[in-house]
Amino acid sequence: MIDFSNVSVVLVNTSHPGNIGAVARAMKNMGLYHLTLVQPMDFPSSVAVGRAVSAVDILESARVVSTLQEAVGDCGLVIGASARSRRIPWPMLTPEQCAQKAVSEQKLNKVALVFGREDSGLNNEELQLCHFHVQIPADAEYSSLNLAAAVMVICYELRKAALAIEGVTAKSEDEFWDQEKATGVQVEHFYEHLERALIAIDFHDPENPRQLMQRMRRLFSRIRIDVMEMNILRGILTHIEYNLKAPEDRIKITQQDKLKEKAAQEVKDSLKGS
Ligand code: SAH
Repeated sequence: MIDFSNVSVVLVNTSHPGNIGAVARAMKNMGLYHLTLVQPMDFPSSVAVGRAVSAVDILESARVVSTLQEAVGDCGLVIGASARSRRIPWPMLTPEQCAQKAVSEQKLNKVALVFGREDSGLNNEELQLCHFHVQIPADAEYSSLNLAAAVMVICYELRKAALAIEGVTAKSEDEFWDQEKATGVQVEHFYEHLERALIAIDFHDPENPRQLMQRMRRLFSRIRIDVMEMNILRGILTHIEYNLKAPEDRIKITQQDKLKEKAAQEVKDSLKGS
């Protein structure tokens, strides 16, 4: 089970209460619960409640403190999110690396993810209270995300990392597909049938093939067709061939089919009786 009880999100000096509400929502969406607010400009606030929607519980249980030292004092790992590289280089993580560190560290220690002010981010003193900095590789043209969007990106990475550890990854197509894939032999028979039908309708000229059958093969190998789909296509081809026949031949075929069906039914009935 995913447990982020040792991870907290710390917002420093947030000016817009709407952002605090949106952060609470992003956190709850990703399964994080502990929010610490360092000197929020306007909190508690009905605007924050409005933006939090069903994450009001996170706002209600938020811890409000007056310094970042106080907020991260009990944490073994502190990671600060920053849009800009600073003058003194600091160990820098990608969001994925940040998530790996946070997810493994939180088993033993408390972890804080620190986010700065909307207008000026985290100051140097605050950044130096962090063991690592994390930067979301946004476009250089405008790399500063909205505060709640930045929190969402980082929390989503934590969730992905935790899900991967739990082995919860997207199912491969083979795991949920309801039909078996067609075998090589079945597909070969289909190509033969397709070629016959294309010749019969004068679409394909074996004297001048123009790579048609290769292209058809490439199309169907890309799809990896299943048995049911293959049977449908074979049925369509059979109907095309049937409808190309002269009416008297069609009747003969239908009669032959009926005889075949009758014979098959008789075999079935005799087996039932035995
Ligand atoms: N103008 C500020 C950015 C403020 S955005 C600056 O230049 O620093 C508010 C907060 O969101 C930032 O302090 C940071 O914690 C987070 N944030 C925004 N964009 C980010 C990015 N690209 N990478 C990491 N954190 C980011």
